[in-house]
Amino acid sequence: MLSLLPMSTSAETKQSLSGLKEADLTKLVKSLNWPAFKGKSIHSWIYTKWVSSFDEMSDLSIKERQFLNEHYKLSPLSLADKQTSTDKTIKYLWKLEDGTVVESVRMFLEEHESYSACISSQAGCAVGCPFCATGYIGFKKNLKANEIVDQILGIQRDTKERISNIVFMGQGEPLLNYDEVLKAIYLIKDSVSIGGRKITVSTSGIIPQIKKLAEEKLQITLAVSLHAPDQKTRELLVPISKKYRLDDLMESLHYYYEKTNRRITIEYILLDELNDQPEKATELSNLIKDLHCHINLIPYNMVDLDNNHSPLKRPSSEKIHKFKQILETKSKKKVTIRRERGEDIAAACGQLANKALN
Ligand code: SAH
Ligand code: SF4
Repeated sequence: MLSLLPMSTSAETKQSLSGLKEADLTKLVKSLNWPAFKGKSIHSWIYTKWVSSFDEMSDLSIKERQFLNEHYKLSPLSLADKQTSTDKTIKYLWKLEDGTVVESVRMFLEEHESYSACISSQAGCAVGCPFCATGYIGFKKNLKANEIVDQILGIQRDTKERISNIVFMGQGEPLLNYDEVLKAIYLIKDSVSIGGRKITVSTSGIIPQIKKLAEEKLQITLAVSLHAPDQKTRELLVPISKKYRLDDLMESLHYYYEKTNRRITIEYILLDELNDQPEKATELSNLIKDLHCHINLIPYNMVDLDNNHSPLKRPSSEKIHKFKQILETKSKKKVTIRRERGEDIAAACGQLANKALN
């Protein structure tokens, strides 16, 4: 249960207010014997004005601001590093209260003239996909909902520009941190005011949680890292598929669509000679032909996992386009190729591994 009264005032244990919903902030100010409307006011300073300190909350009295400074802190994250790419993609490295670090990326979406944030749900990841830098560092910890949401607010505080889209494609497997991710989604919708249709959760295929998420009937997009059209190849690329098998995963995706009516995004990494052959494109078309989905092909981003001794390679652009063409023709579905951003600062998918601190 949320404790609203200040328990301790030491810097590490001060409760942060960013990440509380309006009802909790109202409860908090009431418990301090302040007028209830101050809760709404603090909420708006945090979520719509993106203040960096209590001192900026100009409709609170000096005494009230002092009280907040003494007993609470604004944000659970502190900025540890920031890199800006030549294409203006920004990669942020955040330090959590216990010193663990996670990354987020802000990208510009030309087609919508708006910004998208790629956020982390865990520090590291336990799934261990062999092509992924986050998987390579292993699991460190689950993020709390306020640590997830504060990545978005931190970016807005820094840039003074609104984020319109959220993708859970940073570090971590969101569905292995289900409760906090769900809490974060509700906060993103209700407090940060980004609609469900602008939120994408990407998963490596954690079947029970896909079914659970379907019951929430959120308007969010579910993206599934399929990566292979057959069980054997998928076990190599997404080790958790030994436990959550491809057949069952496909069934859970049909179920998700039935419950939510939301088209699914199928993500498919392209790795040279591993899953990029024309016959794999045909197999994939057959596998997804009855599913309401579109497919996003992700050409492998080279990550420096093993001093470059890794046998994984990105296919030639000829092979990538051939794969796309077969898939499009046979499945009659929309197929896109993910555009890369932030290449020079290793800000693309799978490259988030806290490099700046290494
Ligand atoms: N754990 C979730 C979300 C984070 S990864 C998941 O796996 O879906 C987000 C996407 O980046 C996934 O589709 C993942 O497979 C992909 N990815 C990871 N490493 C990559 C790399 N080196 N090159 C291209 N895509 C990568
Ligand atoms: Fe984890 Fe996703 Fe990386 Fe696989 S691709 S190791 S599930 S973050």
